[in-house]
Amino acid sequence: MKQSYDIVIVGSGIGGLSTLLYLSETSIYKEGKLSICLLVKGALNQTNTSWAQGGIAAVKALGDNFEKHINDTLVAGAFTNDKKIVEKVVNSSPDLIEDLIKWGVQFDKKNNGEFDLAKEGGHSDARIWHKEDQTGKDIQLSLINKINDLANVTIYEFTTLINAKKTTKNTFIIQLFDNKNFFVNNLICSKLVLATGGIGGLFEKSTNQQNATGDGIYIANKLGATIENLSFIQFHPTGLYQEGNVSFLLSEALRGSGAQLKNEKEEVFMYKYDERLDLAPRDIVSRAITSEINLQKLPHIYLDATKIDPIIIDTHFPNIKKECFDRLGINIQKELIPVVPVQHYSCGGVKVNEYGETAVSGLFAIGEVAATGLHGANRLASNSLLEAIAFAKFSIQALTNNLNPHLLLDTDIETNTLLKVEKSEIQKIISSTAGIVKSNEGLNKAMYQLLEIKSKAIECAEFSLSNYEANCLLETAILLIQDAINQKENKGVYFNVDLI
Ligand SMILES: Cc1cc2nc3c(=O)[nH]c(=O)nc-3n(C[C@H](O)[C@H](O)[C@H](O)COP(=O)(O)OP(=O)(O)OC[C@H]3O[C@@H](n4cnc5c(N)ncnc54)[C@H](O)[C@@H]3O)c2cc1C
Repeated sequence: MKQSYDIVIVGSGIGGLSTLLYLSETSIYKEGKLSICLLVKGALNQTNTSWAQGGIAAVKALGDNFEKHINDTLVAGAFTNDKKIVEKVVNSSPDLIEDLIKWGVQFDKKNNGEFDLAKEGGHSDARIWHKEDQTGKDIQLSLINKINDLANVTIYEFTTLINAKKTTKNTFIIQLFDNKNFFVNNLICSKLVLATGGIGGLFEKSTNQQNATGDGIYIANKLGATIENLSFIQFHPTGLYQEGNVSFLLSEALRGSGAQLKNEKEEVFMYKYDERLDLAPRDIVSRAITSEINLQKLPHIYLDATKIDPIIIDTHFPNIKKECFDRLGINIQKELIPVVPVQHYSCGGVKVNEYGETAVSGLFAIGEVAATGLHGANRLASNSLLEAIAFAKFSIQALTNNLNPHLLLDTDIETNTLLKVEKSEIQKIISSTAGIVKSNEGLNKAMYQLLEIKSKAIECAEFSLSNYEANCLLETAILLIQDAINQKENKGVYFNVDLI
């Protein structure tokens, strides 16, 4: 196994793979002078990116313009976004779509050959580029096809980043765990890119992959990077009401096509909460649903998609139709769908500058793991795939600058001591205290319980992936609750009854 690389990228979602593809377009790579390693905890396609449904936002339609997309992003983020970053990302969006098309992504077109752009909650115009209701799957597969052609790139699947240390020579020693053959290995690199995705594993119900356990937050925090706004968790208003940790998502695009939220009497209710009705930003819709759930006797409300033209359902939402039938036997063209808000997206994360670099020089965070300033206190729908590819592109010059030509693995890195903790215990604490509606008492109780778990846990006798993930969750949970306690006002997705 080669032990030194110029750049190590951790994660194979849109963040990791587009960073790799942009690197492959640089002259230093083309001259054969750049060695890159891609590490992935699971299979290449086991990502949240694969599950993205609605699409990716970018201005294109006549009548739409950058100012409108910028304003929609700022309104959703409760004007706490970094306006310069919002402008930079939105202004780049048409070029980023061109890059995806160049890499093989096939966005849906209308019969007249024009791209079929959809409208989602919080967007003032139709600007969502999509592929049916499985946009992420097409993006993921296209990027995987493209990276498979690359030379000078080593790819390790089923290999988890478990520790990292910065050396005095401005390099990183990183430690990996081979999840299939159960051995630990070390590498050295000049630049380390964390593209490790979200933190859905912290919650009992999430739309995320089960492997979204906050590993990047854990490693970045250990290395001394700044972690910001971790309590800004977006709940998706319409997760399918079903058993298990992972809740199937019913894309906002369904409501964009006319589906309506209804209570147990089959009455619409969004008019009581916001003039934008069912297409108000997600935080408002999620809180409205929570309020309706508290008023009625059912643990869920309904989404009524029966009025949508059957041709639209079959052409735009074939997968949602199939999944609702396979999972709950529901025919969405004839029956109401039971839905609840579920954890969906982490708006905060590892703080980065406009080039994706953290406070630790040489350490980058790209994609959902990062806090770039784009989302502020709430993410506008379909802005996260955009953010990931945007920062992948913005990072390339800084990533390829000042590479250390003498990479020698001459110091060791200790293996983490893992505590024996249960994922389900952490999920229960976080779900009951750091959900859509928080309180000071709940947050203080959560912090007490998490610190008690940490102080009383015994050490694990041996290293395992699930123990490692549980430790990442515990540390991330503590950071999240601390951030929630530090918030001084309600904004965007953050809502604490004691701050009203
Ligand atoms: C159901 C669903 C629908 C969504 N729909 C949309 C949408 O329509 N539009 C939109 O913009 N956004 C959407 N999102 C959000 C968006 O998909 C994600 O924010 C985005 O895909 C994140 O990309 P990423 O590259 O940051 O992470 P991911 O795609 O989640 O990839 C993370 C990668 O990191 C790897 N990894 C993690 N930890 C380690 C470790 N320790 N060692 C090695 N590898 C590691 C994982 O194995 C994985 O390869 C949706 C999310 C979900 C869950």
